[in-house]
Amino acid sequence: VRTFDVAIIGGGVIGVSIAFELAAEKLRVVVLERRQPGEEASWAAAGMLSPSPDSPRDFPLVPFAKESLRLYPRFVAAVEEASGKSAAYVRHGTLEFFFSPGAVAECQTRLRELQSFGLGAESVSVGEARRWESSAPSSARAALWLPEEGTVEPRLLMDALLEAAQNRGTEVRANCAVTGLVRDAGRCTGVIAAGEKISAGTVVLCAGCFSNELAGQPSPPFVVPTRPVRGQMLALRPLPNSVNLRRVLRSESAYLIPRRDGRIVAGSTIEEAGFNKHVTPAGMQKILNAALEICPDLAGAEIVETWAGLRPGTPDDLPILGPADFAGLLIATGHYRNGILLAPATARVVCDWILGAKPAFDVSAFSPMRFHGSKSQALSAV
Ligand SMILES: Cc1cc2nc3c(=O)[nH]c(=O)nc-3n(C[C@H](O)[C@H](O)[C@H](O)COP(=O)(O)OP(=O)(O)OC[C@H]3O[C@@H](n4cnc5c(N)ncnc54)[C@H](O)[C@@H]3O)c2cc1C
Repeated sequence: VRTFDVAIIGGGVIGVSIAFELAAEKLRVVVLERRQPGEEASWAAAGMLSPSPDSPRDFPLVPFAKESLRLYPRFVAAVEEASGKSAAYVRHGTLEFFFSPGAVAECQTRLRELQSFGLGAESVSVGEARRWESSAPSSARAALWLPEEGTVEPRLLMDALLEAAQNRGTEVRANCAVTGLVRDAGRCTGVIAAGEKISAGTVVLCAGCFSNELAGQPSPPFVVPTRPVRGQMLALRPLPNSVNLRRVLRSESAYLIPRRDGRIVAGSTIEEAGFNKHVTPAGMQKILNAALEICPDLAGAEIVETWAGLRPGTPDDLPILGPADFAGLLIATGHYRNGILLAPATARVVCDWILGAKPAFDVSAFSPMRFHGSKSQALSAV
């Protein structure tokens, strides 16, 4: 039996960020990943660092998202220093465009909403936006400038994070599926992974949209109610000297993100398709139509890659973050559309819990207990 201070189930951006933070505290940490780390949602993500809400359902998340954005520069600098690798983090801001007949009013409502959360936003004329980004759409009727937003390249971030966590002493085991939790006298004391018992002072469940699978037999209802929400994406390479974006361009239907190598990533769909990761004609059509509305100059670009990933969705679109209902188990999952952005703040609060400190931010709204019935049990235990 191997013994660790912390065993983390899932090697996505959430699990590995937590490992990276804990390893700085000199804890013995193991990340257990059933495939290769970073190949699921964290690989598929666009990498926008945007705390602005997409709908009123996101409102409770905004303060936490703002905190995580505030932590980002320090987080990335630490990861890059510990790994020697770049995550391609930039803070070039976002231009949002409005196209509908009611665009001007819609834009003003959006501006007030963003400002009410203390998010940096100002309205700009479409002409001014086009002076900054010559490929911005002349057909837009209104525009907003969100100067604080940034991006990372999630695949680079994952690569750097893994290296950084390992350089700090974290053990990462690939092809090592966790099939159950070990419970002893009402406390979670470890996991069964690849048939082996691994003991740990604390277990952290970070299995993304698959977290629900560990709810076990018999499955207690609604303990970790994650579900996969498919997002399709594509990457374009503009014709030489045609499109040269610096900022993120966004509408309510799509976004365009410039990558360091000149490619432009376009996304996304939000689909209930189970665990199916196919790219579909309808998905591509939807993204391309909306992408060309934002940036018509991309019409002749080459489509260089298409892919899809599964976001960890939850019933209320909010993360599931906090202690479970038995000691020794923490849950950090359900980051839905914002896991790349939320990784630093999530890692910080999980680290605080494990060290016995009061979490740096109030995350009680995300407690796993909100899904529990009056008499709850926790995950499957063996
Ligand atoms: C198309 C798309 C675009 C996105 N764009 C953005 C964006 O712009 N900005 C942003 O902030 N977020 C974005 N997201 C969301 C973000 O990708 C996710 O919220 C985040 O990656 C979730 O990270 P995770 O570590 O929880 O999950 P994952 O990356 O899915 O990692 C979970 C890991 O757990 C492993 N696992 C599962 N079960 C077990 C088990 N039993 N034992 C061991 N390991 C197990 C899996 O193999 C996987 O590697 C996007 C997502 C998608 C799909």
